Amino acid sequence: MSTPAPQKFEFQAEIAQLLDIVTHSLYTEKEIFVRELVSNASDALEKLRHTQLTEKDIYDDKAELEITITTDDKAKTITISDTGIGMTRAELVQNLGTIAHSGSKQFLKTLGESGSKNANLIGQFGVGFYSAFMVAKTVKVYSHSWRAAEPGHVWTSTGAGSYEIEEAPDARRGSKIVIELKDDCADYAQDWKMKEILERYSAFVSYPINLNGKRINTVQALWLRSKNEIKDEEYTEFYKFQAHAYDEPRLRLHFSADAPLSINALLFVPKENTEKLGFARTEPAVALYCRKVLIDPKPKLLLPEWLRFLKGVVDSEDLPLNISRETMQDKALIEKLNKVITKRFLKFLEDEAKNRADAYNEFYAEFGIFLKEGAAMDFTHKDQIVKLLRFESSLTEKGKTTSLADYVSRLGADQKEIYYLVGPNRAAIEAGPYLEGFKARNLEVLFCYEPVDEYVMSNVREFDGKKLTAADHADVKLADLPKPEGALSEDDTKKLTAWLKESLGERVADVKASDRLVDSPALALNADKFMTPQMRRMMKAMKKDGADEPLKVNLEINPRSAVMKRLFETHASSPEKAKLVAEQILDNALISAGLLDDATPMVARLYKLLESV
Ligand code: ADP
Ligand code: MG
Repeated sequence: MSTPAPQKFEFQAEIAQLLDIVTHSLYTEKEIFVRELVSNASDALEKLRHTQLTEKDIYDDKAELEITITTDDKAKTITISDTGIGMTRAELVQNLGTIAHSGSKQFLKTLGESGSKNANLIGQFGVGFYSAFMVAKTVKVYSHSWRAAEPGHVWTSTGAGSYEIEEAPDARRGSKIVIELKDDCADYAQDWKMKEILERYSAFVSYPINLNGKRINTVQALWLRSKNEIKDEEYTEFYKFQAHAYDEPRLRLHFSADAPLSINALLFVPKENTEKLGFARTEPAVALYCRKVLIDPKPKLLLPEWLRFLKGVVDSEDLPLNISRETMQDKALIEKLNKVITKRFLKFLEDEAKNRADAYNEFYAEFGIFLKEGAAMDFTHKDQIVKLLRFESSLTEKGKTTSLADYVSRLGADQKEIYYLVGPNRAAIEAGPYLEGFKARNLEVLFCYEPVDEYVMSNVREFDGKKLTAADHADVKLADLPKPEGALSEDDTKKLTAWLKESLGERVADVKASDRLVDSPALALNADKFMTPQMRRMMKAMKKDGADEPLKVNLEINPRSAVMKRLFETHASSPEKAKLVAEQILDNALISAGLLDDATPMVARLYKLLESV
């Protein structure tokens, strides 16, 4: 029995156009053809598995379900075969000769709209099977359908207008794609090169992939397995493999969702925050997969920026395989994924904080800075993030923290504000003059030690209807305390503040008796809402000449302090000396406020004062 002669077919007009572009394209990431062909092979195997469930009479039924790849660098060929569902003659014509595939359709449509032969669009839309022609002189597809009655066929094309189909007597079940490489693409026939590409894109494909006799994909797509059958060690091993990490993960979240999108995600928080160690800004590293095939190892928009410390994998069946790698063709879809995953991760942190407070606090000590960034910048998730912030306070022990919710739960009925103080550490804030008035009134004050805190607090603005307020700001009004014995009378206090205002002149905006001092003689309050001490330092550092922003401070004095009583006595009798003392009191207050820029005049003055002792 003789086999019929090869039959020649013209490609459908659109395919011809597509191929013309693909074969002449200068698209640089040509290696994606491997991803496309392996994913087709994997799809074909998956389809066979389903067919086996319902059909009895399957051709070559004993064949292992696997993908076999061989390279021949002498002949410059690559062969990718699978034992999947295969194609009949009619299916070869239908699937490879006409435009059924949505990515290719979209590609042509966009191309028509943009009116150019933009090579990048290939990467953006993926052109599926046809991407082989970026690297191929000729492509042969040997295929035998699972249907036993049909003989095997080979489909052959150079990608120029037409293809041929003829019978191929010895075909095994499935498809075997033989690529004869263009001379300038011969590198792809190197074993190491192909191995590298396969490891990048296909490490988790569920069917075995063998390259030149060696198994490539040994790690399972853990994220698709059920949580309760995975051991901790397996998770750790996976984390190390996937994130190229050497540490153990600190936290992990493994979840799946069906609505509004089908998602399987496995996220890890590393042990250490490398940004904190002084390494460069972390790059987003949660990889995006579609049914175990890598779409993008570092998708920028998959998670908000402040979650850039996360590692792991997100897999969504709803993604088209050819979703753009450069610009994320389907923004809306990625945005949806982003929302779902971020919400879920925040919920996870909330649960951790509640159920494993110690572990959460350790996480926070390492990664809290990212949450602060989120609280200040991510308007969508701000409310959820703010709940996760932690601070020491005037009521916590050193090293112990409180949440804003706990702070609010301790508030008196009429307190409308949440007070905070920024300082380098606990000791500095406790030694400063600002805290005592709050302490005397039993008002809790949050302690903020990080340079960003100021910015975070002013961006967060409020929590649970309570305004976040800097305790060292001049606008803060505190309730009266009973007047203690031995203070200067109201009259004398008035005289003293008027005299101080006059002698200190330009250096102060206002001088008045304080309602917040208990022990200290005086304090300086920043009267400029927008120019906080931290802000001033920053402005100064940014200016080349180091010029100071003009200061606007209010000096508040404590009429109960011995220093003030003594100053009141001397300001009339020895005004010269009293003026030196007044200047010194102001400088002391500025030091506590972090507002003294130049201590030189102070040193000279101190010597003068010491002479008169
Ligand atoms: P897509 O995979 O998105 O459908 P492709 O251009 O990659 O688009 O492939 C076109 C079609 O060709 C596939 O839908 C499938 O029907 C068929 N096909 C491709 N490769 C194989 C294969 N290895 N085995 C069986 N069918 C295949
Ligand atoms: Mg495909």
